Amino acid sequence: MTNTLNRKVAEKLGIEWHEVFSIKEYLTADGYVSIYTCSCGATSKSDQELCTNPDFTANAKDLIEVLMKRDDWNKFRGEILEGNHLRIIDRTDSIYKYILNPRLLCEAFLEWEG
Ligand SMILES: [Zn+2]
Repeated sequence: MTNTLNRKVAEKLGIEWHEVFSIKEYLTADGYVSIYTCSCGATSKSDQELCTNPDFTANAKDLIEVLMKRDDWNKFRGEILEGNHLRIIDRTDSIYKYILNPRLLCEAFLEWEG
């Protein structure tokens, strides 16, 4: 579930998503060795050391940092983080809601991107 959300966000941002593509076993002098191949082509003897994906649901800062570099940052900030479409009384809660719950920020970003 978390990975599905992260993957959708990464793909919207144009960030390549990595996943184990194949596992092959080879017999060596030390016994069987597994070679993991990622969808990007990287290989490793351990799936833990293969490739990493961003976890935007762990910390709102990670997604905000990426969005700040985009041309539409001011639009996103105004419409989503600052809640300009909301009644004034609801606006101050908007940014805190997303910082405290990065999943909500991810979902709001996906909905905003369309
Ligand atoms: Zn990879």
